Amino acid sequence: MFYPNKIFNKIEDIDIKFLKDLGIKGVILDVDNTLIDNSKILSEDKYNWVMSLKENGINACILSNTIIKDKVEEVANKLDIKYFMFAKKPLSGGFKRCKKYLNLNSSEICVIGDQIFTDILGGNITKMYTIYVHPISPKDCSITTTIKRPLEKMVVKSYLKRMEDNK
Ligand SMILES: [Mg+2]
Repeated sequence: MFYPNKIFNKIEDIDIKFLKDLGIKGVILDVDNTLIDNSKILSEDKYNWVMSLKENGINACILSNTIIKDKVEEVANKLDIKYFMFAKKPLSGGFKRCKKYLNLNSSEICVIGDQIFTDILGGNITKMYTIYVHPISPKDCSITTTIKRPLEKMVVKSYLKRMEDNK
């Protein structure tokens, strides 16, 4: 339940052909530390990645737990995609709203995020394909995230070990 289907360093490392081969037609993106860093910067590489996603016929939307509207809205406007906030991830409500908006089956949707206990857990609960990316900024401001990070590292480490064992 805590394991993602796949781990990448950053979103622009995710090969879009890889997603297409899996039958993915829609992507649910986290914002903080997945698309933007602590300074709220959306890098050109990440922008380009989302653009090529859309060019390849894969729809995308943002699902964020944040309560800061301006921040999410700015990123969504730049990328010209829809956003949903106050998501209460890992609860399934937000994921279901995205699914309805994308108008796809769970198996056709990929959730991408930097937090095991919100993005990945929520995506797994709603039976979507899940990709964990390492957080952009090593330091996170929120206290709850600071507590969760060491636990996340443990999950990622044990996941990688399991992959290694299965080789
Ligand atoms: Mg995040």
